[in-house]
Amino acid sequence: MGRYYHCPHCDKVLNPGTKVVLVIDHKGERELILLSPDLGDYTVVYPLSFEPELGRKYIFRCPVCQTDLTSSINDNLVELEAETDDGRSEKVGFSRVYGERATFVGSGPEHVTLYGDHATRYDSPNFFGETRIRDEE
Ligand SMILES: [Zn+2]
Repeated sequence: MGRYYHCPHCDKVLNPGTKVVLVIDHKGERELILLSPDLGDYTVVYPLSFEPELGRKYIFRCPVCQTDLTSSINDNLVELEAETDDGRSEKVGFSRVYGERATFVGSGPEHVTLYGDHATRYDSPNFFGETRIRDEE
């Protein structure tokens, strides 16, 4: 299923082509970084001048309005808006730690899907601003 990703601030589309385009802060400079729009695909494209450090947390920005896209709910995540082919609105959160494969997609607190083999490190992604109540079994 295809998705269009939007900046939560200026609402511009972040994947006009085959990649999601974001800006990353790096040593006082900014670099472009391209991510796969396919959830669970952690292929990244970046310029040679950017040498990401494994385990380091980066600030991702919208390439249009430059807003810091760090989730206000979970400091470890970048948060984007998304719209699916069939017109559903979702939130997408992914880890801003380089090398950590964790993505959360959902249309509401009860409908969150996890991608990536590190996603289970997050007990409660919580990017909907509500505490997820765990089932007592
Ligand atoms: Zn923006």
